[in-house]
Amino acid sequence: MLSIEEALDHIARHARPLDSVQAPIGEALGRVLAEEIASDVDSPPHDKSIVDGYAIRAADVAASGTRLKVVEEVVAGDVPRQAVEAGGATRIMTGAPLPDGADAVVMVEQTEHVAVEGAPLGHVVIQSERVIVGQNIMRQASSMRRGETVLQVGHLLRPAEIGLLAEVGRTVACVVRQPKVAVLSTGNELVPPDQTPVAGQIRNSNGAMLLACAQRAGAQTTDLGIGRDDHESLGGLIGKGLQSDVLLISGGVSAGVLDLVPSVLGKLGVRQVFHKVAVKPGKPLWFGVLESNSSTKLVFGLPGNPVSSLVCFELFVRPALAALSGESFEPRQTVAASLAGGFDQRGERVTYYPAQLNEHVDGRVVAPLSWKGSGDLRTLAAANALICFPAGTRRFEAGETVQVM
Ligand code: AMP
Ligand code: MG
Repeated sequence: MLSIEEALDHIARHARPLDSVQAPIGEALGRVLAEEIASDVDSPPHDKSIVDGYAIRAADVAASGTRLKVVEEVVAGDVPRQAVEAGGATRIMTGAPLPDGADAVVMVEQTEHVAVEGAPLGHVVIQSERVIVGQNIMRQASSMRRGETVLQVGHLLRPAEIGLLAEVGRTVACVVRQPKVAVLSTGNELVPPDQTPVAGQIRNSNGAMLLACAQRAGAQTTDLGIGRDDHESLGGLIGKGLQSDVLLISGGVSAGVLDLVPSVLGKLGVRQVFHKVAVKPGKPLWFGVLESNSSTKLVFGLPGNPVSSLVCFELFVRPALAALSGESFEPRQTVAASLAGGFDQRGERVTYYPAQLNEHVDGRVVAPLSWKGSGDLRTLAAANALICFPAGTRRFEAGETVQVM
């Protein structure tokens, strides 16, 4: 049986970035840039004031109490018409262009305005002892110069980058396409969530859960509903699912008599890369690819038990979706935490165990929950972490350091 690392290596080899598309910036959040972005403007476009105050000549202020004549008022959006000469000042608002002659701005809180007969805009008394050249001024093009590259290929578009694209006039950008993910739930026992199960039946919880997982990972999702455990039903739905970049199938990959998914996939040309990984829960995980000249489709056969499905998604599918989206293939990171209570780890597989992780001033503490096994989704809803216990049989004592995802 493969280790988690070996399984991840196999997946990484097949998870290549998708082709790129033009996306309006309103739809580009979370995508990865596939082109270099250059600015078409200087930012700021002019020397600008970064406070509300008075633009003056720094050399005019030798001591606190210097009095200057106000010659003009400039708000953001205006263009100053008067130069500031010795003994003069311009009332200026945040973002407004600095008038010629001025070389510093004194914030309004450090001034006092006085009305003066014969001077329509009055005088201003500067209440600081010293004014430094350049103070409260952002110089033209100090953020970026026209023509300069501001974002590189491969950059993830977060809200800041979306704003930057807007600043440089890009309403559309070339980004790596969002992966299309189809989700198929299999099992004769399954009914849709809006139905009341009768004897022998349960509701399909994996379908909605895996669609949510894929959406959170930035994918475009298709719900294929429920497939029955027969070749015809599975064949038809899997065929449809193979139109997507990634097909997630839950159930039907274990050792039961009706676990037909691997054989149906094989008949449809999907090549098995591996089956079974030494992880608990999640051992029956199946992974294969459908390769053509133009594309590689990834197929994950996830175990039917909901918690197994979710753990396999987090461990194996999520890094694959990131790589398809143009990000790097990064296995989920873990952090160290102190175990709140004793725990008996048994078995030859790495175990991911639902837990409650809390941050304290003196470090992280993690408490295993009272989990009833891989069908117990309810306890998972009370968890905010999974403890990763290494393979092997031994007792972990309270206070021991463990790794947590
Ligand atoms: P399987 O992997 O098909 O053998 O299923 C393992 C267990 O998971 C069985 O108890 C199934 O009833 C359950 N199961 C399978 N698919 C789902 C699903 N979509 N939602 C909830 N439970 C499921
Ligand atoms: Mg089944």
